Amino acid sequence: MNKTGVLMIVILTTLGFSSKNSSATEYDVNICFWYEAAFSDTGTIQDPGVGDHFRNNNYKIARGAKVKVTRVFGNWDVFFDYVDVESGCTPPLTLNSIWNYRITIYSEAKLQNSNIVKLRNYWEAPSLYARVLSSTFKPNANGFYFFTWDDYDADWVPTIAAGTGFSLYRNHGDTYFETFYVYNYGCDGDISAFTGEYICLGTAGRRRRFSMAHEMGHNFIYLQAGVGRAYGYDYASNECEGPVDSHSFDSQEFQRAAAWEGIAQFYSASVWNNEEETNCDFDYYRAVDMDHDGDLDGENPDPWNPLYIYSCDYGVQFMDSHCDADDQENPPTLGNEFDWLRFWWDLHAREDVSITTISHIWEEANPDDEDGWTDGTAYLRLRSAAISNGISANTWDYWAAQNGVDHYLED
Ligand SMILES: [Zn+2]
Repeated sequence: MNKTGVLMIVILTTLGFSSKNSSATEYDVNICFWYEAAFSDTGTIQDPGVGDHFRNNNYKIARGAKVKVTRVFGNWDVFFDYVDVESGCTPPLTLNSIWNYRITIYSEAKLQNSNIVKLRNYWEAPSLYARVLSSTFKPNANGFYFFTWDDYDADWVPTIAAGTGFSLYRNHGDTYFETFYVYNYGCDGDISAFTGEYICLGTAGRRRRFSMAHEMGHNFIYLQAGVGRAYGYDYASNECEGPVDSHSFDSQEFQRAAAWEGIAQFYSASVWNNEEETNCDFDYYRAVDMDHDGDLDGENPDPWNPLYIYSCDYGVQFMDSHCDADDQENPPTLGNEFDWLRFWWDLHAREDVSITTISHIWEEANPDDEDGWTDGTAYLRLRSAAISNGISANTWDYWAAQNGVDHYLED
């Protein structure tokens, strides 16, 4: 729902209240919260698709945020709970115009299925952020009152809260009662990563919605499958353009690593794009030679805010066409995360395979059961799990071949 829609509800509901009680100094008050957002990867999306999300840095609804409304006199908490996921508002509270109220917001939110995101500050004795938005609030009418957590001088906390919360708002599958821990601090080397226990966001990641949602995707899949990861980025003979010491859109990896990164990229794409579109946009931080003509591609409309946009519908088998090592005809144990992103997107957007089903496929393939995945069997394990989750072999095989993820060792 956009801001205009929210304001419309406000007016209608306020009219409803006014006929009920207008003379007392007690008022029925809903207090509503916004995050000020300062993403670096908004506003330049390629496709003005209806339903794409966070395409600008307008205020974002503080969905499910934990807030406290305290009567200053007596320090009495009128409300200390999560606001509504859709509106970002408290339920009606009875507040009296003679008192001052203190309004506090915390960096914690409860989204659908009682899943919680906690954004915390430091490794040692981690704690939530809290911000007092007013200490002198007094109602003067029934209705809705709005408060915004400004990003200025807030260490990107409202931006991160908006991005991680919206990720879970959009894609929670059938996880219930889980807590996602997000640290406003980079892992070693200031990188953004999911460690298996928590997400850490580095200097760049805490401003990129696609990065935040990527790490939330790792965390979601991990919680859904209930098992750890089975991957490494130690494939050193990368024949693509991408880096050899980490992973990226244009790097060649062992298949387990490519699949693990690809499903997180897919999750991120599905958070920010209209899922009806076959050509979703992915805002990436690096230029990639997508068509392998020697020049870097992706649009970069703002040289002060480098951002490169790639389509999920590019129709290229990236690894097969770019990473053609002489000694690796159809390398059976290798993969590319961008190929996996487009593969899952095609199943999702074109074949109506839900996020929930995709997470079940991963869970059933189970990367860390006692047999374990190998880079030669990862693809086949996912394929078997997909078939037992109702996807036809023909459908799977078609899109796998289209996107070039079908690399495996024959039994
Ligand atoms: Zn990742």
